[in-house]
Amino acid sequence: MDVPFLSLKEVNARYADELKAAVGRVIDSGWYILGEEVAAFEKEFAAYCGARHAVGVGNGLDALSLILRGYKELGALSEGDEVIVPGNTFIASFLAVTENRLVPVPVEPDPSTFNIDPARVEAAIGPRTRAIMAVHLYGQLADMPSLAAIARKHGLLLIEDAAQAHGAASAGRKAGSLGDAAGFSFFPAKNLGALGDGGAVVTDNSALAERVAALRNYGSEVKYHHPYQGVNSRLDEIQAAMLRVKLRYLDGDTAHRREVARRYREAISHPDIALPGVTHEEQHAWHLFVVRSPRRDALQKHLQHCGVQSQVHYPVPPHQQPAYAELQGCKLPLTEQLHREVLSLPMGPSLPMDAVEQVIAACQSFGGAP
Ligand SMILES: *Cc1c(COP(=O)(O)O)cnc(C)c1O
Repeated sequence: MDVPFLSLKEVNARYADELKAAVGRVIDSGWYILGEEVAAFEKEFAAYCGARHAVGVGNGLDALSLILRGYKELGALSEGDEVIVPGNTFIASFLAVTENRLVPVPVEPDPSTFNIDPARVEAAIGPRTRAIMAVHLYGQLADMPSLAAIARKHGLLLIEDAAQAHGAASAGRKAGSLGDAAGFSFFPAKNLGALGDGGAVVTDNSALAERVAALRNYGSEVKYHHPYQGVNSRLDEIQAAMLRVKLRYLDGDTAHRREVARRYREAISHPDIALPGVTHEEQHAWHLFVVRSPRRDALQKHLQHCGVQSQVHYPVPPHQQPAYAELQGCKLPLTEQLHREVLSLPMGPSLPMDAVEQVIAACQSFGGAP
C-alpha cells in the first residue's frame, strides 16, 4: 500500500455527515455572506485561541496583510517601515509585507527548530524597524518569550504568522494569543482546514479588530459608508460552518499528529537523516514533520521507490524567488542550506499508525552514500 503525503479526502471523510448537515443548514438559511455562521465561528475561534477577537477573512495571506494594513490605518506603521521576517518561510509571510509597501528584512533561523533566531533578530533591528513577523514554522512555536522581550525593548509590534500552528501552546497559552496580533490560514491542508479558502485575524486589540473587520468588507462599518479603501476578503458562511464542525475535533487531531511525530522520532535513526528539534511537546502542533538530509533528493527518490510520498517545504526561499529580485543580494546561508536539505514525511490527523511504520521502515532502509 502506498502512503500518501496527506489525504484530504480521508481527513474530511471522518466528519462527512456533520459537514453535510452544516452545509445544508447554510443553504436553507438563505444567508451566505457575513451571517450567523461567521459570527459564531469568530467567537468560538477567539475563545479557542484565548484571545478577545477573531475576524474571519478570505485566506491566510489576507489575514497577515490586513493586520499590517490595520496597523497602518491606526498610525502604527507607515510606508517604507521595516518588518523582520524569517528567511525560511512560505512566501505569503513576505507578500503580506510587500503588499503593504513595507520592507521585509529576512533573518536566519535556528537550524534545529527551523524558527527565527532571536539573537539575529536583535542584530537586524534598525531605525526603520517597526515590527517582527514571527512564523511558527511547520507548527512549532517560534521562541515567543525572547521575541516578546526584544519587541518590548525596542517598541516593535510582534505579529504571529500562525498559519501552520493552530493549537500549539506555550504554558497553556495558544498560538494567536502570544503577540499583538496573529494571522491564521484555513487552507484545506492546514491543521484546521476549511473545504476551500479561509483565514482569520486574532487579536486582543479591539481597535485593530474593528479596522480589520471594516477593511475586509470594502472598508465599511455601515453599509455603503466607507471610511477606508478596503478590500473584499470575507470568510464565507459555508466555510465558517465547516470550520465550526472541525474546530471541535482540532485537539484530537493534534493529539494524533503528536503521536505520529513521537513514533517517527523514536524509531527513525539514520546517520543521513536529522530529526527536527522540539522545544516542548505542547509547543508543536506538527503541521509538518520535516527531516533534513545532505542527500535529500536521493532520500526522496528512495522513499518514492518504497511507496512513500514526501514533499519539500520549500524548495526555494523567498529571497531567491524571481518575484523578489530586490532581495537577491541577501546572504542567508543557513536558510539556503535548509532549503536544500529539508524533506517532509507523511503527516496528518488520519494517517494510520501502520502507514507510519511503513514510512519508518522506508527511512531506515535508505542506503549509504553513493
Ligand atoms: C499557508 C500559509 C500562509 C497563507 O495562507 P493561505 O490561506 O494559503 O493564504 C501564510 N503563511 C504560512 C506560513 C503558511 O503556511
